[in-house]
Amino acid sequence: MAKTCIVCGQAAGSGEHVFPAALGGRRVNSGIYCPKHDNSYSGLVSEIAGQLDFFNAYLGVRPDHSSHLKTAFGEHTLTGETVSISAKEIRFTKPRVISRTPVGEGEELHLGFPNQQSVKQFTKKMEDDGHEWTPLSKPSMRPYITGSIHHKRKFGGACGLGAIAYMTQTFFAQEFPEVARSGALSDFINYTQATAKVAAQGGCEQQPEEREEMIEARAALAAALEPFGGKAPAWWDFSPPVGARANKFEFGHQVTVGIDGSDGQIYGRVALFSAFTFAMRLGTAPQGSATREVTVDIDPLAEHPPHDIEKHQVFSAPGRVHVPENATEGLADALANGTQQHAFANLLERMEEHQLLKLARTMSKALAPCPTLSSLEARALIEKELSQQPQQIWRMATFVVEGLKEKMVKGNLQAITPMLDGLIAHDIQSVSGLSRQAEATLTLAKAALTAQMEEDCAAGLLNEARITELMGRGPGLHVVGQAVLAPVLLVLGESPHSNEVSG
Ligand SMILES: [Zn+2]
Repeated sequence: MAKTCIVCGQAAGSGEHVFPAALGGRRVNSGIYCPKHDNSYSGLVSEIAGQLDFFNAYLGVRPDHSSHLKTAFGEHTLTGETVSISAKEIRFTKPRVISRTPVGEGEELHLGFPNQQSVKQFTKKMEDDGHEWTPLSKPSMRPYITGSIHHKRKFGGACGLGAIAYMTQTFFAQEFPEVARSGALSDFINYTQATAKVAAQGGCEQQPEEREEMIEARAALAAALEPFGGKAPAWWDFSPPVGARANKFEFGHQVTVGIDGSDGQIYGRVALFSAFTFAMRLGTAPQGSATREVTVDIDPLAEHPPHDIEKHQVFSAPGRVHVPENATEGLADALANGTQQHAFANLLERMEEHQLLKLARTMSKALAPCPTLSSLEARALIEKELSQQPQQIWRMATFVVEGLKEKMVKGNLQAITPMLDGLIAHDIQSVSGLSRQAEATLTLAKAALTAQMEEDCAAGLLNEARITELMGRGPGLHVVGQAVLAPVLLVLGESPHSNEVSG
């Protein structure tokens, strides 16, 4: 039987991704949409990809058909400049002025560039524009310590939910091809199509003055929602079915589609990163439809099939959904009682842990020859490796300083807090992004970690597990805390030993 488009019934055959390529989906199915209707959903896909870009970038997801890892953009809080965020690094996107000093009739500029290419472009532009200038030194590579990065996250919304609904509809069509073409999904497809049109017009956010096409697209969406009582048939869900299967993959997504034959309910559930969960009602299946549920776990970090998904099927409907009275209630309640913040914080925590393990694996490989080296060579190697991790060492240093600060405030010793703030102060006008004192803090922390690693290496203990502990857990925080806080604790008349720092 020839495959037909589930939207229009014409011949299908475009190679659409079952799970969006932008989110790391690796599977193509060529029998669900015609090229026109496959394309019609691209606005929704880019919307959800935009909403999730920070997570995908931080995790190092590679979009399918791309050789590059995902990059997201954020704002560097201190300078207000745009930075790009990837699993590898955070960097400024444009050249920036670090400092300027008047000299004679001109001025001396100290500039920072994101990369060598940017230096070349800048040099060329200066020449093209006819500026008189002389480079005072060759550019050198220096690490920059970023403080906080501001990234606007906005989840869900009409388009976000529409994108989730579209993804689920595609999975349903794949697992239940006949029901998907029986007309049972027609209201739901009208809804995803109408949302897709709003997204394609750039209408995911309400504009103050909207064009005629946009007003029409919004009216069409309102009409498409009528069969659902005016509310989207997809919603945030915070009551996953009891006994739901855990995702096979650490940062996996999960899509569940099913039919409950007892009343024909067609339902779907989506969990992104095992953190953000949605549910939807897709329609009513023809009488006599068999009860069946299919769950697919998707690993966005898998490079290619076959180990990128894991599929399960049951002949029951444990995931059937309960349409909420008020669809927005779920999210409002969750925001009010902290469920959503908790899910978000938990995801960030898992991602940081993942980063730490990755870092430890890399360092452990590099430091493997350590026990065979002379002590001088071993030290040089350890120093070199630690020099490549300034951001992580900085993270530990700020963690112990902030920790002590909190303790001081609780103990009514606020007087000491300016001193602690000074230890980790940023400075816009410095090459490293840190004040001199903060640079000294970082140097102290690095030296302490070097000494500890040298000792562990000599004792034959510097394995991957130990490196993980030293680069981000209690033992590392203790070492860094001893070094960084010692001067402050001396002032307080406390011995560093009485101030156990734990992570
Ligand atoms: Zn079509």
